[in-house]
Amino acid sequence: MFPADDTIAAISTAAGSAARAIVRVSGPEALVLAARLFTPAAGFLDEMPGFRWADGLVRVPAGQAGHAIELPARAYVFGAPRSYTRQDVVELHVPGPAVVANAVLGALVAAGARPAEPGEFTTRAFFSGRLDLSAAEAVADVIDAAGDAQLRSAMGALGGQLSRLCRAASDRLADVLAVVEASIDVADEGLALAAPAELAERLAAQADALEGAARRAADMPEGRDRPTVVLAGRPNVGKSSLLNALTGEDRAIVSALAGTTRDVLGATLTLPGGAEATLQDAAGFGRPGDALAEAADSAARRAVARADVVCFVADASAGLTPGDRELLEEVAAANPRAPVLVLANKIDLAARPDGLDADIRTSALTGTGLDDVRRELGRRLHLNAARPGGALGLHDRQRRCILAAAAAARRAAELLARAADVADVAELAAVDVRTALAELGNVSPDAAGYVSDDILARIFSRFCVGK
Ligand code: GDP
Repeated sequence: MFPADDTIAAISTAAGSAARAIVRVSGPEALVLAARLFTPAAGFLDEMPGFRWADGLVRVPAGQAGHAIELPARAYVFGAPRSYTRQDVVELHVPGPAVVANAVLGALVAAGARPAEPGEFTTRAFFSGRLDLSAAEAVADVIDAAGDAQLRSAMGALGGQLSRLCRAASDRLADVLAVVEASIDVADEGLALAAPAELAERLAAQADALEGAARRAADMPEGRDRPTVVLAGRPNVGKSSLLNALTGEDRAIVSALAGTTRDVLGATLTLPGGAEATLQDAAGFGRPGDALAEAADSAARRAVARADVVCFVADASAGLTPGDRELLEEVAAANPRAPVLVLANKIDLAARPDGLDADIRTSALTGTGLDDVRRELGRRLHLNAARPGGALGLHDRQRRCILAAAAAARRAAELLARAADVADVAELAAVDVRTALAELGNVSPDAAGYVSDDILARIFSRFCVGK
């Protein structure tokens, strides 16, 4: 498999922008290599004993990576064999964004570390007898997190709720972490700070809370920044003609034959002021019939259900028929949240243009009313931007991070639940709790001021004088 005696390095937090990232180094040279980049506020990293952390500065010289970096960071040192891999391990906790962690990793590799393969730390832990197979598998389940654009948009959209969730969990996890870390040092003095079962319970409670919140949270549609407007209406009222006329793209195939548009077609709609929306034609919505029509219907139904605004199109020359009204009700039922704009199209053919009860009269043929449609859509989409309800919504990435945090807290809880003493499993449990904290920090950067220094300092000052 992998050689196990060289020094490896990797970013061990999820990808994407985050408040902080963890760069982990394991192997005989871990301390020496990390010491080239990290300077503790006092002393030297490679002279730090056993299980310690230090705040200091991480420095990466300017090079191919671009600008020189000099930023506050924290280093955790785990001396062999009391580390995750049983080798010397250094974790550099560096501030986000990803570019910092990448530069640190790049510098470590330039200094001689080998970039770790996926799962290689855990492989080392497993082969050194640190983990049993089920624990190794559990670690392997951890996380991949994709793009980071959603993180930003969700942060803005969700305001305090998500960060409160992460903050509360982070604070409680950090409290447990402080006790776990301190237990390692006081164990040598024959002291026990807490019963493992009690810490296990506290961690499990946080895992439950996070999982519950992730389960209850609504899905945040991805790419929220581009709203969707859907055209619905009976066949042949002029939906695809309107799509073309409004977007200026000849994307939908216009046909005089009723019901020939079967897919959900979309094009870019530019609104007054330059904002863009996607305009879709939900042809086939609500139409019973052959299998193809039903397939189109379900695609159309999904489009309607996801729409931010629905434009319901009727034929002005025929008036608002009972069939129109029925379909209008179906639209409202499929998406009770979206405002519906009723368009009386083919107004150029209507004998009594005023006779139809509609929001806007349009003609895809002559262009009548199209500017009004654009203006009204801009207005409704803006009004619609602040979503009511206050339910927690999560993007996929955030949900994955929260569940990964819960899983990590759960692993630590299980380790502790099986242990006779906290100190027996403290290093391993601490790795998991720190992972949980880092994942929460990746969801909500302002929740990531995690290891509460004052608590650590308090415990260390009581129990570890002179150690
Ligand atoms: P859809 O089935 O609702 O998508 O309807 P289409 O866009 O395919 O239009 C059906 C027919 O109505 C086509 O022959 C279009 O040229 C015609 N049509 C669409 N909009 C207008 C309009 O505003 N005025 C007139 N006179 N004809 C229109």
